[in-house]
Amino acid sequence: MAQLFSIFGDPVSHSRSPLMHNSVFKNLNYKACYTRTHLLDGSRLKETFFSLGLSGANVTVPHKEAAFNACDEVRGFAKTVGVVNTLVNENGKLIGYNTDADGFMYAIEEFKDIQNILILGAGGTAKALCARFLQEVIKVSVINRSEGRLTYFKELGSLCYSWDSYATHKYDLVVNTTSAGLKDEELPAPKEIIDDILANTTFVADAIYGKLTPFLKLAQAKGLTFKDGADMLLGQGVLANELFVDSMLQREDIQKEMKKSFLL
Ligand code: NDP
Repeated sequence: MAQLFSIFGDPVSHSRSPLMHNSVFKNLNYKACYTRTHLLDGSRLKETFFSLGLSGANVTVPHKEAAFNACDEVRGFAKTVGVVNTLVNENGKLIGYNTDADGFMYAIEEFKDIQNILILGAGGTAKALCARFLQEVIKVSVINRSEGRLTYFKELGSLCYSWDSYATHKYDLVVNTTSAGLKDEELPAPKEIIDDILANTTFVADAIYGKLTPFLKLAQAKGLTFKDGADMLLGQGVLANELFVDSMLQREDIQKEMKKSFLL
């Protein structure tokens, strides 16, 4: 019987994950299908997962922390950060993983000598990236709209700013992990702060993919080297697919097929 996979999120209609995973399944003759599920209430993730009879799933904004709480067992890096983006049904148990952080490390390989990063946002993605950067002994600062979510990052030893307390520093890379610009045309912080940040960085990245966000448009206008979240998406997708197929397919083949789906 074919296996069924899905992505959970709100919004979820923009997600390219179904295209990516189905491209792998179809072209590598793996009997499975990947769909999307618009989930408003994160606390219903587990019951929805099992009622749909899923073999695995990805989780996107804003349910990654709810996904962590829904798991029977969390493995690997997801345990360090409390954020899950990949779920696997292992004999009726919900197992959680995080493939976002390694996906992002893959995405920024082309940016050399990154020693000092500013993260915009303090949600699930920001947590995963921050913890992963610290593992690489990269200095991390965080700026977020609301103060409350900064506690986690302060405890990790990062320099943290709210919009009110922001102060100028030089960075090698600034990465937007807020959802500002995802379904609106907002900047991740007031324009005067973003202008100052962009005047003091070498590279710029956005986790959002499939569109040039207002943040990236500004980076482009200032002549900075930037990239959107497409390579991060590819990186996390390859690692998630490996977990879905329980290593029955080769990573290089998964990557090749997924990459092709980006051209569709
Ligand atoms: P969360 O909901 O966990 O966090 C969202 C963050 O965005 C919070 O810090 C929130 O601030 C901030 N935020 C939301 N709206 C605004 C706004 N209008 N202005 C400023 N800040 C805002 O989301 P995730 O971390 O799960 O995802 C964040 C983004 O990253 C999404 O756009 C998602 O699509 C993208 N993403 C892309 C991936 C890829 O593969 N390319 C992988 C993972 C994520 P506050 O605390 O004040 O509410």
